[in-house]
Parts: sequence; structure tokens; C-alpha cells
Amino acid sequence: MITKEERAKYDVVVGLEVHAQLMTESKIFSGDGNAFGSQPNTNISTISLGHPGVMPKLNKKAVELAIRMGLACNCKITRFGYFDRKNYFYPDLPKGYQMTQDKTPICVGGYVPIQGVKSQDKVTLNRIHLEEDAGKSIHVDGQPDSLIDLNRAGVPLIEIVTEPEIFSSEAAGAFLTEVRRLVRYLNVCDGNMEEGSLRCDANVSVKLKGETKLGKKVEVKNMNSIKNVMKAIDHEVQRQIHLLEKGESIVSETRTFNPDTGRTSGMRTKEELNDYRYFPEPDLSPLQVSDEWLEDIRSNMPELPSEMKERFKEQYGLNEYDASSMTDQRDLAYFFDAICGITGNYKKAANWLMGPIKSYINEHDMTFSNFPIQPAALASIIALIDEGKISYTAASQQLLPYLFENPLEDAADAAHKLNIWQESDSGSIQSIVDEILASNEDKVKQYRNGKKGLIGMFMGELMKKSKGKVDPQMANKLLRESLDAQ
Ligand code: ADP
Ligand code: MG
Repeated sequence: MITKEERAKYDVVVGLEVHAQLMTESKIFSGDGNAFGSQPNTNISTISLGHPGVMPKLNKKAVELAIRMGLACNCKITRFGYFDRKNYFYPDLPKGYQMTQDKTPICVGGYVPIQGVKSQDKVTLNRIHLEEDAGKSIHVDGQPDSLIDLNRAGVPLIEIVTEPEIFSSEAAGAFLTEVRRLVRYLNVCDGNMEEGSLRCDANVSVKLKGETKLGKKVEVKNMNSIKNVMKAIDHEVQRQIHLLEKGESIVSETRTFNPDTGRTSGMRTKEELNDYRYFPEPDLSPLQVSDEWLEDIRSNMPELPSEMKERFKEQYGLNEYDASSMTDQRDLAYFFDAICGITGNYKKAANWLMGPIKSYINEHDMTFSNFPIQPAALASIIALIDEGKISYTAASQQLLPYLFENPLEDAADAAHKLNIWQESDSGSIQSIVDEILASNEDKVKQYRNGKKGLIGMFMGELMKKSKGKVDPQMANKLLRESLDAQ
């Protein structure tokens, strides 16, 4: 749509607003359950339904999780604040207002380091605030009615708001990847964008290179994956440059992304937006974070991915690459850590996870959180290979798939059952070697006269005789010793 030259004239400016549903037992202002996937309208009481006169009560755990995220993102924690009412009308908002933190967000400033982007190594945050989610309107194709599920009404959220300081779709993708990793490591949110527990709105603008004033921004909603956020930004950049190059101006508006076309289309202009008439929430007392409470939250923080990576290098001697791979996803990191609590062969544990296990998981569309084989079973597989009891090939190609179907079975028992247990007792291998040498006298002679290449033939015989069940390294050693002994 636009030429390379046109594109090169402009800078991209993006600011993201990320909503994360907090993993609490109950909602933010009531004891109603907070479980995804419940029957519609079952996790509700008069509070979630917004009946007049009911009194909200702030969920302490929700505040703790927000502070956890703030500490992980290097924010300043607000010690005295209050909630605000944001007033607007929407069918899935029965109270007619949303309780949020407008003036006194729980976390202020901070930054998130990002990886793999040349031009940028961190994203500056404006704030992280707490708020309640709204209900959900469900529109079924071809049906005239809208259905409303209020289970989501009052689900605790944090909203992470960045400064307009993300300068490419790649940086936006890297930021979201890191935020998702952080919320998962911190047990703050399950990070599932498809189910909507992690959601992102992208504010996108462009400006001529060298211009200091920011361009007019467009807000894009409705992206359910990191890839789609990046696609939406790329499309929006093209569209805006195209308009500006035609001499038109950008309309500040909210647009929606269509994943099927990869395009955005207008929903409403800023001018049509409500004035939210914010005012302090009168039904909740102010929120005070004491020194003791803050210290308690800080000292109970789960390990951050960056901390875990350093520990893996130090404790398990992993190199930078392996330590990064092992901490890429939370569930993988904990799985690896658990195997290393049993095996001493840390490098092999990492190789197994990066190699056969990861392929298996990808092929079967699983994750490490629902991987059925236990860390202890993998530690035994590694030990069996190290002791020469099974070969790596048999372990990865036969034992692994078998244990996957029979996860409770002992690895050694399974190896016997699969007939992949190899002879590593030197006595019994030696007797096969002796047999082979005795029945191949001329070949032995030729070998001893210098035709060393025959070793391959002898190994082949040995494997055939033993049905492949000898430890090849030991077999090779014993064979050479016998042949070389004149
Ligand atoms: P609004 O008044 O529309 O709510 P805010 O100033 O509160 O705007 O910012 C909302 C989000 O939009 C933030 O993430 C911010 O970084 C981003 N943003 C603000 N201005 C721009 C801009 N010109 N281009 C891109 N993003 C922007
Ligand atoms: Mg705003």
C-alpha cells in the first residue's frame, strides 16, 4: 500500500494498555468465586449484580498480586490511595460504573526489560492500577438477542499502562511476551490471551522522523494473541502513513482488529466517548499499604525469571543459552528445577527438555503444565542412559512415547518390557565377543594383519547376536581389546 520510501519517512509510536485477570479465589469486591469457565451467571451475588445499597469489600489478595507485579516491574508502590468510580452505561455493567484507580494507581512508573529487539531494551511504564472487570455480552451469530454473563463482573484486574515509548511492533511483541512470562512466574495471572485473561489494547500513532510532537493516536482493540497485536500495529502504521501521504489527517478513534483479514476498522471516535465523571468511591475506605505488609509481600515474591536464570547458571553450571531456554516458560523452568533435584546430570536434563520432550509437547499440542511424565521418571531415564542400561535412541524413540501413555510405570520396568534393556555387564558381552571371534577366524587374521576397517563388520555381528541390546560403547571397547590382543 505504501512505498519503502514513504515508510522510511516516519517513526512509529505505540503505547499499550494490558489487562490481566488476577488469580484470586474470589472477586475484587465480594466473596463471589473467580473461576474461568463456570456455568454462566453462577458466580454472582447482589454485589456482582450491582444491586443498590450493597457494600463492597476490597480483596486483600488482589492488592498483593498487583503489588507483586509492581515490584517485579520496578515501580514505586503507592502507600496511600483510594478507588474511583468511572461512570458509563453498558449492558454488561449493571452498576453503571466501574471501580478503578484513576488518581492513585497502586504502582507508579517502572519499566520492563525486553529481549531480542535491536533498537530497544526496555519499555517504560506509566502505571499499574487495580480495577474490576465488567460482565460479558455474548452475541450469537444469526440470533437477535444478546446474552449477558455476569460471572466476569467484579473479577480483579490489573491494568498495565505503558508510556508511548514502544517504537516498533517487534518491541510491542517482546514487551507482551515478557509481561506474560512475568505474570505467570509471579502467579499473578495465567496469561492466557485466547481465553481473555490477558488482554491488550494498542495505541498507535506515526510521526515524521525528527518531529518531537506525537502524532494523533488510534486505539486498537480485540487482539487475542501477541501475533495479532503485532499484525494490528503493522496494519495501523501502513494505514496511517497512507492517509498522511494523501494529505489527509488521522482521526482519533477506537478501531477493532479483524484476525481474518488482518485489518482494523473504526468502532467509535473519541468525540463520541463518554465523559467518565470520575469521583472517589465513597463505599470503600482508603487503601493504606503499611511497611510491614509491603515487606511481607516483597519477601514472599516467587522467584523471577531473571533470578531463576542466574541461579540455574550458578547452581547447575548451565551456559547462557541453556539457562535462557530453561527459563523461557515458567512450567518448563519448574520442571527442569525438579529434575535437577534428583539427577546430577544437569546438562543432559536440559538437553532432554529442549530436544525430545519439547518436540513431543509441540507435536501433541501440550504444555509443560499438563505433561504427564513426572520429573522423577525423566531423572531415571537419564540415569539409565548414563549407566549404559538403555541407549539414548531407544529411550527417546520408544521409552518416552511408552511412558507418555503409561506415566505411572517405573522407567526401568518399562525398559525391560519394551525389550530395550541392554547388556552392559562386561562378562556376558565378552562371551558374545569370544563367540564371534571364534567363528570368524580368517576375518580376525585379516584384522590383525592391518585391515582395521573390519571392526565395523565385527560390531555388526555383535549387535545382531545380541539383538542390539548391548551397550555399544562397552561392546566396542571389549571387541577392540580382544582383537588387539595377539
Ligand atoms: P487517553 O487520554 O486517550 O486515555 P492516555 O494519555 O491516558 O490517553 O494514554 C493511554 C495510552 O495511550 C497509554 O498507553 C499511552 O502510552 C498511549 N498513548 C498516548 N498518546 C499516544 C500517542 N500519541 N501515540 C501512541 N500511543 C499513545
Ligand atoms: Mg487514559
